[in-house]
Amino acid sequence: MVMPFEFAPSVKCNSVPPAFEFPIRDDLRGVISYGAPQLAVPVCLNVNENPFPLPADVVEAITAAVRSVATDLNRYPLRDAVVLRQTLADYLAGESGAQVPWGQIWAANGSNEVMHHLFLAFGGPGRLAISFDPTYSMYPEYARDTFTSYLSFPRRADFTIDIASACRQIVSHRPSLILVTAPNNPTGTALDPVDLKTLLSTARECGAMLIVDEAYAEFRRAGIPSALELLPDFANLVVTRTMSKAFGLAGARLGYAVTADPAVVATLSVVRLPYHLSSVTQAVAIAALRHSDSLQAQVATIRRERDALQEWLIGQGFEAVRSDANFILFGTFADRQGIWQRLLDQGVLIRVTGPTGYLRVSIGTPVENDRFRAALVSAVAKEG
Ligand SMILES: *Cc1c(COP(=O)(O)O)cnc(C)c1O
Repeated sequence: MVMPFEFAPSVKCNSVPPAFEFPIRDDLRGVISYGAPQLAVPVCLNVNENPFPLPADVVEAITAAVRSVATDLNRYPLRDAVVLRQTLADYLAGESGAQVPWGQIWAANGSNEVMHHLFLAFGGPGRLAISFDPTYSMYPEYARDTFTSYLSFPRRADFTIDIASACRQIVSHRPSLILVTAPNNPTGTALDPVDLKTLLSTARECGAMLIVDEAYAEFRRAGIPSALELLPDFANLVVTRTMSKAFGLAGARLGYAVTADPAVVATLSVVRLPYHLSSVTQAVAIAALRHSDSLQAQVATIRRERDALQEWLIGQGFEAVRSDANFILFGTFADRQGIWQRLLDQGVLIRVTGPTGYLRVSIGTPVENDRFRAALVSAVAKEG
């Protein structure tokens, strides 16, 4: 486990410079950077990573790929990452049956950077992005960074989106960006494909891009379609995906957007920084994608473990929200912070997130999930 001291300085300044009033942007004054705690604990179930180490054949392929680009690291990377984008297209054809040419795929350092590009290209001063709460906590930060206004509307009590009401909000507020997370984080809730079509039509009539954040798509239950299927019908649809979750490559930083029109990709490439995707990142991602078959078994195990944990939680009398992702939102607790701490005291790190009273646990290995179960029983017993 790494980095309990993220910002430990390697060089100490002996002399402190005279006080200076830093010309920080007014809206950033006093804002602290946000992120889940990175603690060195035995059972890390807080940021929805794939808990399994990469299989040996994938490690071999990645190592060989990095070795082969190492001699060329004196050169800038391939700016357009065409081989990577083609390999992503091949992967999607197998995973979702979507036939998408590489020219409609955009890749960047994690889907967080993809989202930033989308906000830079389609947001900005005087523009509005909307989403549906509770949802991914980073969206307001992309909006702030890009001077985009941001509004979120509440989901229903079961965490689905009230589509009639969402369409009314779109018509009256005229956003340029609509963000829908499916499966949703932190609730795991799937999006009904009929509802998505209705949203897309309304968004199109109102001139808005609709981004479906499919970070957890690979974990969806059989029969739940991907939004990729709707790309041929809606020019305003963008589907984002990531290799951070199902692929077990959170450390490599590779996310991508699948668009309905190469013109969208052309716009995103205007706002990216030069050579944003390193040769190493491209090589690692291509090697992992070419071995995606050996990762399928891990995804299957995680889905089975998720369904088993869901049933166990319900059997213990908890509320556990039906999840199509690799985590479960559960509760409710009078003192969720207390439960979280008592789990941590037993070496199990989960996440305090979502509506008051709920906690979110990522699906771990079978052994980690057992440790979570035991720790939760004990934490709740102590709550009394
Ligand atoms: C984890 C997650 C991402 C992925 O972020 P990366 O930058 O690709 O690691 C994107 N969206 C949601 C909703 C997530 O939970």
